[in-house]
Formats: sequence, structure tokens, C-alpha cells
Amino acid sequence: MRRLTKRVVKEVLKRRIGLEVLELVELLRKHKDLSEFKLSEMLNEDINSVRNKLYRLQQFNLIGFTKKKDEARGWYVYFWHLKPEMFYHLYRKMLDDELKKLNSEIEQNSSVELYTCPNRCVAVTSEDALLCDYTCPECGSLLRHTDNSKLLNSLVKKRDRIIKTMDKLE
Ligand SMILES: [Zn+2]
Repeated sequence: MRRLTKRVVKEVLKRRIGLEVLELVELLRKHKDLSEFKLSEMLNEDINSVRNKLYRLQQFNLIGFTKKKDEARGWYVYFWHLKPEMFYHLYRKMLDDELKKLNSEIEQNSSVELYTCPNRCVAVTSEDALLCDYTCPECGSLLRHTDNSKLLNSLVKKRDRIIKTMDKLE
């Protein structure tokens, strides 16, 4: 099974569950099969709060358990472990969503030429700018062609970074 990196854990938790569960997940990453009692002790945290965190992780199918009967007390104890493949699955999906969003932003920004008023009244397409004689319909100032190459550049760079990250995951 693939080793789960802290970076992937952090990215997934940050966007899906919340970083307050990071410490607990890090414990499970380092020690296999911990009971909620052991976790509560190691985190120095209330058992109900630990259970709540485990529940939230379980909702995303990021953890699993094995149960063993405590012969002395006669009840079952749950031992928890991480599911690395699920972390990677969610991570890949997050990157994929981001990639789609960036692609559509890049497309929008490369196909449209914008003209804007220096007083920030309007932003119009080149057709509309031509129709109003390149003057602002609100204040009459001369409209300026807006250079969005910087924005486009940074979007493309972001996209390249995501593609690289995804390649490394394969
Ligand atoms: Zn104006």
C-alpha cells in the first residue's frame, strides 16, 4: 500500500474536514490501530471529542476500524486505522476540480478582450467598446484596453503546478 504523506493528509483535511483533526490523523499515520481510549490519552483530549473527530473522518471513509472484545470487561473496543487510498482518491478529485476551474478561467480570459473605464464605471467587450466609440457611457472618459496577460500567465502557472502534482501522484 502506498505511504500516506503528511502533505496529502493536510491538503485533504484543510479542504474537507478541518485542520483540528490533523493531530489525531498524524497519530494514526504513525501508529497502526489505536483505540479511541488510547487516542484520547495520547491527545490528552476528552473521549467524546475524539469520537466526534473519528466520526467526521469516517463520514468521508478516510478511516476504518477493527473491533476486539475486551474479555475482562465484556465489551468491544474499536481500533482505528487510516485508509491511505481514500486520502489519495479525495486529493486527486480536489486537484481535478481545481484544474477544471482553472481551465475555464483561462479560456474565459483568453477569448475576451476587455475595455475598462479609468474611473472604474464599466468593463465592456471590444464589440461594445466599438459601439460606444471607446468612451465610457457613464462618465465619458476614454476606455482603455485592459491587459490581462499577467492574470492569464499566473493562471497558466497555477495550472502547470497542479498538473505536475497530479503526475507525481500516478
Ligand atoms: Zn467612466
